[in-house]
Amino acid sequence: MLSERIERLRPSPIRRILAVADRPGMVSFAGGLPATETLPSWSASVDPSVLQYGPSQGDAVLREAVSAQLTALGLDAPADRVMILSGSQQGIDLAAKLLIDAGTPTAVESPTYLAALQVFRLYGARLVGLDQVGGGGARLAYAIPTFANPTGRCASPAERDTLADACLRSGTVLFEDDPYRDLAYAPLPATPIATRMRGGSWIYQGSFSKTFAPGLRLGFLAASEDLFTPLVMLKESVDLHSSRLSQRIVLDAIESPGWPARLAGLVDFYRGRRDPFAAALDRHFAGLAEWETPPGGLFFWLRLTSPIDTRTLLDESLRRGVAFMPGEEFYPGEPEVGHLRLNFSHAAPADVDRGLATLADLLREQAA
Ligand code: PMP
Repeated sequence: MLSERIERLRPSPIRRILAVADRPGMVSFAGGLPATETLPSWSASVDPSVLQYGPSQGDAVLREAVSAQLTALGLDAPADRVMILSGSQQGIDLAAKLLIDAGTPTAVESPTYLAALQVFRLYGARLVGLDQVGGGGARLAYAIPTFANPTGRCASPAERDTLADACLRSGTVLFEDDPYRDLAYAPLPATPIATRMRGGSWIYQGSFSKTFAPGLRLGFLAASEDLFTPLVMLKESVDLHSSRLSQRIVLDAIESPGWPARLAGLVDFYRGRRDPFAAALDRHFAGLAEWETPPGGLFFWLRLTSPIDTRTLLDESLRRGVAFMPGEEFYPGEPEVGHLRLNFSHAAPADVDRGLATLADLLREQAA
């Protein structure tokens, strides 16, 4: 079930020794650790020891905190099966390394997150549809069921049951990518698909990029027992561990009494961006495109009523000062032309109207 390269994967002896080297009473001649007393102490609130090398799996306190959150979602995710990632993009790379050889059938949604496609293609995956899973036609199934990138769509509980059943029946690894779960603009009834995977193989991942700060580059994953250890070994060989300063900053944030209010405030803020964006779309794109207001996440997904390849519009649009993502980039196979992905969280509200008007004018000119 794993990729061929995993046969050559060995645990790092140095990482194994370092895991016990800082026990009280241990005299360690083992690692190449700087003397902790030489580490910079540029902030009174940051203990220099967080600037020392740390465990590959991530700092225990942060893993405990993430484990508590994932367990509350219904996942089987004790802290010893939680790993901190250098961004959830790293989780995609590690999962691909673990599972994909040249030609490995890999099931994805169509459209799906383009940087996941980039990774799967890099490892030589043969991309197939999620409908291939039940018949055993895929080794792994990558899905973003909750406020998908790019469509903003949230899969129904029935659709979640179907994918989990198909994975369990065929021994396919479920890889659930869930960075947008907390950005829900209405109550979210859907539990992660991975909660339905007991007895099967699964990876579930999330990110602190959308809820806290992308520049810290922190995400996390939990996985079934069969996959977890090789994932940690792969992480060792990639970057030893994620930034401990970032981990410390995130831990302080998510453990602070104000965290739930911060999350709620963020959701209100983004809903407050989504709704006027929807109104501006109504003003400028009526008749030009169709869309649904996304129930969560960060994107509107537009279907043009007269489809043209939107990649051909991009250069002129950029010249006129408006950037968007051509929808064609998100397709694993032959793209369905005539879609745009528009992010609504970042642009200043004062610019949204002008930007959408410019884009709509460009589309009308092209159609004429
Ligand atoms: N997965 C999905 C579906 C995403 O949309 C993104 C970011 N756009 C990522 C993973 C990567 O996020 P990060 O590495 O910042 O956690």
